[in-house]
Amino acid sequence: MVTMMGISLVGRQVVMVGGGRVAARRIRRFLLDGAVIRVVAPEVCADVARLVQDNQLEWIARGFQPADLSDAWLVHTATGDAPTDGGVAALCSERRILCINAGDGAHGSARLAAETQSGDSIVGVVSDTGVDPVRTSLLRDAIAERLRNGGLPVRRRRTTTVGHVHLVGGGPGPVDLITVRGRRLLAEADVVVTDRLGPTAVLDELSSTVEIIDVGKRPQHHPVPQDEINAIIVDRARRGLRVVRLKGGDPFVYGRGGEEVAACLATGVPVDVVPGLTSIVSVPQAAGIPVTHRGTAAALHVVNGQDAPTEATLAALRDPQTTTVVLMGVSALASFAVAALDAGADENLPVAIVESGHTDAQRTTRATLATATDAAARAGVRNPAVMVFGHVAAVDLLMPALTSHADGRTTL
Ligand code: SAH
Repeated sequence: MVTMMGISLVGRQVVMVGGGRVAARRIRRFLLDGAVIRVVAPEVCADVARLVQDNQLEWIARGFQPADLSDAWLVHTATGDAPTDGGVAALCSERRILCINAGDGAHGSARLAAETQSGDSIVGVVSDTGVDPVRTSLLRDAIAERLRNGGLPVRRRRTTTVGHVHLVGGGPGPVDLITVRGRRLLAEADVVVTDRLGPTAVLDELSSTVEIIDVGKRPQHHPVPQDEINAIIVDRARRGLRVVRLKGGDPFVYGRGGEEVAACLATGVPVDVVPGLTSIVSVPQAAGIPVTHRGTAAALHVVNGQDAPTEATLAALRDPQTTTVVLMGVSALASFAVAALDAGADENLPVAIVESGHTDAQRTTRATLATATDAAARAGVRNPAVMVFGHVAAVDLLMPALTSHADGRTTL
């Protein structure tokens, strides 16, 4: 019968008897756990030798002697010789020191669990009787997979003294285009502060006790001002809650993520950022448009369409080897196109406008710089949309990989 315990090895002496490959693997794990390691072995493998060289452990280069155990909390045998391992294990029992015995497929008084960590939850698997490392690690892997998918109740029920803010990039919309890390953090969150864009459907999968605060723009409502958003995330974290600030695309692309990080840092709230698939690349891609393409486009210029085009943007539009991607640009398309034409850009430069990329409502409107404004008006193009100016937007670039649908959509 065994009892599984969470034991902290931080700063505690662990003695490894043996210096081969098994020992090396376990030593690496103990080092990550913060243990102080002494290896007793006449010879060590290259991996252990490297750790000795880096001053990460103490090596006693001889056979085992009982005195080696004097200050040990935990002993691990891995000499490859079962009688030797057994002898050390027996001595440990006499001295009441816990011992993991790698020899002979038998357990000592302690055994290491196959572990997986998800946030601050650690799940371990051990066999009660007999050793079955393959079963143990398969089981661990299966649990790890479920933890990664965000389906298990990993959310803390008891708050910690200081919470945490995670800025999570949600990608362009579909729930399976958020990162695995982002999805896990959502499963752990007490509070989710969300925008209108991004994988909002994922919120339906969260427990009804998770506080969801929508700060995005709604047709009838004004968006919540940025300083108020900053105040919300800081306030919730200071109450010891885990906050996910979920954003469409990537948090650091036209998402004011930098300001939110600064607000957290200024108030001492721990914060980190999880990247997301930005619409700059993923939305054109959904319409079969590569933003760079060998021989067609070698550079990418990205702008916010709400700002008047700068000299750099006009130069990009004139350069046939540069792709210009415009976000938030639907309402300013007419003035943008006029400015580009006035600045000498090619009137036949291909343009593609991709609305609601990666969603059921995805639609692509193709035109040229000269015809784009009319084409967009005729089609009734609406936000959110990504506009692509450049030869990569030509309809036949990747033919015949593309399929044109009767409703005008083009898909891969
Ligand atoms: N942080 C986001 C961008 C936020 S700005 C990112 O990295 O993608 C909002 C703009 O992004 C929209 O006006 C639109 O231009 C673009 N956008 C975001 N998601 C989109 C989608 N699914 N389809 C089309 N455009 C999208």
